[in-house]
Amino acid sequence: MFRISGITRTTLVKWISIVCVLVILLVSIGCGGSSTKDQQSNDLFVTPVWHSAAEVKAYTDQHLSEAEAIYQRILDVQGERTLGNTLVPYNDMLIEIDRVDGLSDLVTYVHPDATVREAAEESYERAEKLINDIKLDHDLYQAVTSVPAKGLDTETERFYTLLLRDYNRAGVNKDDTTRQQLAALYEGIVSTGKEYKRNIDEDVKFIEVSEDDLIGLPADFIESHQPGENGKIKITTDYSDYATFETYSAREDLRKELYIKYMQCGYPVNDKTLKELLDLRYQYATLLGYSDWAAYWAEDKMVKTKEVITDFISDVAGMAQPRMMNDLSELLAEKKLEFPEADTVYAWDASYYTQKVKAEHYGVDSQEVRSYFELSEVKEGLLGVTQQLFGVTINKLQNPDVWDDSVEAYDVFDGDQFIGRFYLDLHHRDAKYSHEALFMMSTGVQERRAAVACLVANLPGPGTAAEPAFLEYIDVVNLFHEFGHLMHHLLANKSQWVRLDGISGCEWDFVEMPSQLMENWGRDPDVLSQFAKQYQTGQPITRELVDKILQAEGFGRGLFLMDQMAKAKMSFVYHNQDPTNINLLDIMKEIKKEYSPYPHEDNTYFYDRFTHIGDNGYSSAYYTYMWSLALVKDVFTVFQANGLMDKRTAMSYRHKILEQGCAVDAADMIKNFLGRDYSFDAFERWIQE
Ligand SMILES: [Zn+2]
Repeated sequence: MFRISGITRTTLVKWISIVCVLVILLVSIGCGGSSTKDQQSNDLFVTPVWHSAAEVKAYTDQHLSEAEAIYQRILDVQGERTLGNTLVPYNDMLIEIDRVDGLSDLVTYVHPDATVREAAEESYERAEKLINDIKLDHDLYQAVTSVPAKGLDTETERFYTLLLRDYNRAGVNKDDTTRQQLAALYEGIVSTGKEYKRNIDEDVKFIEVSEDDLIGLPADFIESHQPGENGKIKITTDYSDYATFETYSAREDLRKELYIKYMQCGYPVNDKTLKELLDLRYQYATLLGYSDWAAYWAEDKMVKTKEVITDFISDVAGMAQPRMMNDLSELLAEKKLEFPEADTVYAWDASYYTQKVKAEHYGVDSQEVRSYFELSEVKEGLLGVTQQLFGVTINKLQNPDVWDDSVEAYDVFDGDQFIGRFYLDLHHRDAKYSHEALFMMSTGVQERRAAVACLVANLPGPGTAAEPAFLEYIDVVNLFHEFGHLMHHLLANKSQWVRLDGISGCEWDFVEMPSQLMENWGRDPDVLSQFAKQYQTGQPITRELVDKILQAEGFGRGLFLMDQMAKAKMSFVYHNQDPTNINLLDIMKEIKKEYSPYPHEDNTYFYDRFTHIGDNGYSSAYYTYMWSLALVKDVFTVFQANGLMDKRTAMSYRHKILEQGCAVDAADMIKNFLGRDYSFDAFERWIQE
């Protein structure tokens, strides 16, 4: 997933959650660079780390006041409107807001101090409010449209075109009353979306078990789950606990109990919150003249219309259905070995029996696999691959200023040029964002600002030399995924116009392309062998084991695809109607009946914990993951032909796609890289292979 900053979009999005891994190759991640590099990073680096609510407020006041002052100066211009007196300061104003909104969004989700989180949330809402005011200010719009469009260079023309499109999609040409209504609705959408997600994050549930109940679980999991004062061991619905328990626990009753708890996080409070959110989005879209939010949200994506989305979902589901049935019968056969009378595979069986099928049919023992993925080795590996592939240098900061001791900071250089900083906040804490995501803290602008981002995850660890932390293979792939987003964000800094830089202005159904593409490096035997070493023996992972992992990974593809399409359909259908009398539960059950491999379990409410729906970037567009994956399959054919570490291919990809930000339409970027229009042929072959 991935979070995005809102300033550049007419939308409401602040982040991208993503999954990625780190591979290490050649580069040392030792301590900081030369003094020249330090100096450059000081010049460009402007995003602070907040430690108190007072700091949050002072910083926010400073930059939003500056933005407002620029705003006023643009309005006050007398005489002829020019690039210099209108568009250039407009860009400066956006940059001032960008200083606040991405950072405050992150802090809202990760800061250990509740007062800082609350102050940051207020900052975020203030920034969003200002963005909204700007988008709906007819005088400002008039000022922008009075700049002669003739004679602008290509990049400026692109900025200008997108700006006008943003204005139109925001409703700047509506009458005063309507614009006031739109502003109020927008504000409501932002705060209700936050509330929906907070309700999930703060509703951590748990089950209590005894030591004997931990049968099947890995030793390090048992080690890190000691009994409390009542002699019971707490297993929570936090993702790292949940995923491990569902995968390994041999106790069906306990897997079921935890599954039900997990599917109740956010319930029932989010019933009301989600309905409110759907209603606000519907009102917003219809006031702008669209039939519903799904239509509004599709318009500025690659798909352009919602009909393309419905066709895509049903096409993918149609192709995946037979494969899902095969997967399901394999899981049932596996379950029957334990329970000969069994006739149904339940949701809480899926990970457990999938893991068993992988171990028994493909010879993949997840616990053996984990022993190759010690966290610090994986991190170094990922950093190395990233450096080699994209030609950048990454230096770890010693004693960085951070919000929690477990957080690490890294500076990224392109040659001698400092281009950005990223933080790794990888481990679980109470009240922290409970999924994986890349938060874009600030957008890089050519020769002016460094890009800053934070990768947030909830991995085991950090571990110590005596007690190292190990990752599941899927976590490794997920880290590669998130690094794909990260490099996209850091490298898209070539334009002077912040609207064109970074990821946030890209078509949303394209943004999961670079991230999912990068997962492929986490699946390559040569790449993996450079950092995946068996913890006790130091032996690198063998090609045979990687092949087995990949074959095993292929198992369950039908289940995965159908599950993804079920989620895509849910997110779409909830937004594809007037929500006044919507029955969230009935719709979910209906969709599950058609798409889900597993029967619905009473007392579970996935729609109340479906983070992507609350997120204003994804909302009705969960299909974007699969759409982007379809693009990945096409783009990756070039790397397959030329070699994954082929410098020329990687640099061509970097220049023609990653660096472009949204200076070019996604379809054209891909065309420039491929030398032809994109196609979904490779994706179809992958579904059916
Ligand atoms: Zn992602």
